[in-house]
Amino acid sequence: MFEGLQEKLSRAFKVLSGKGKITEKNIQEAIKIVKLSLLEADVNYKVVKKFIEDVKRIALGEEVLRSLTPDQMFIKIVKDELIKIMGEKAPLKIVHNPSYIMLVGLQGSGKTTTVAKLANFLKRKGKNPILIAADTYRPAAIDQLITLGNKISVPVFTGDRKNPVKIVKKAVESVKNSGYDVVILDTAGRLHIDDEMMKELEEIKSLTNPDEILFVVDAMAGQDAVNSAKTFNQRLDVSGFVITKMDGDARGGVILSIRYVTNKPVKFIGVGEKIEDFEEFYPDRIAGRILG
Ligand code: GDP
Repeated sequence: MFEGLQEKLSRAFKVLSGKGKITEKNIQEAIKIVKLSLLEADVNYKVVKKFIEDVKRIALGEEVLRSLTPDQMFIKIVKDELIKIMGEKAPLKIVHNPSYIMLVGLQGSGKTTTVAKLANFLKRKGKNPILIAADTYRPAAIDQLITLGNKISVPVFTGDRKNPVKIVKKAVESVKNSGYDVVILDTAGRLHIDDEMMKELEEIKSLTNPDEILFVVDAMAGQDAVNSAKTFNQRLDVSGFVITKMDGDARGGVILSIRYVTNKPVKFIGVGEKIEDFEEFYPDRIAGRILG
């Protein structure tokens, strides 16, 4: 994860190593390398612009702490800015009982897998979740969810295999007063965003009044993923994101851009294919991994 970005950023830090202090001249070169590293990692250009302006202002404005060398100081500034750009840690909101959590996303993003990962995570926290299989679009999705539900001993509500809105209506009725406190919904994705899918999701949203609508996004999909996150957010007013496949060779573009572009937080990351490969999102840990 982040190998390329890490290696390139370390070149920027080397520029300042052995220097007595940060000057306009030496910082210029280091900043240029940081800028290129971020652009090559597929970070949104607006994010890069803001990042660079802030780092430069802080680096030139701040006295170098006596305990730190200029390169250590610069690393600290870059780290603080990485954390800032990813936003603060935002907890999962569970208000209603039962609390509905809708997972939405494009096909292949890891949505169905994430439904099970999240249920497993909540079960470990003492919740009593149930899943609703409402992805009627991808043929194998319902059976995949049933298998995953069995693995973690969480029930899966299925129904009419053609009409997701009908499934959800029935599920809402049967979940009432059933003792399940969290209801996680797997919804249908498409290969590309289309109006029919959005309308269906809007309808499911109004039927369930969810505490969370999480857009599941594949870290490998780069700025395309950030653009679809923007569109989903405009239509559905999502509450946050789950970034999957962070174990692959994702370059960093998605995780470093999505918060700034949409103003919505990342809540979880997927770090592998197994059900346990799922973590809460801590911006400082990610910044630490980026800097190595
Ligand atoms: P959906 O179409 O969005 O429901 O996608 P799936 O849940 O079926 O996932 C698509 C593929 O991505 C499957 O092969 C999953 O095992 C895989 N996948 C999901 N999340 C992760 C992850 O965090 N890391 C890795 N390496 N693979 C993942």
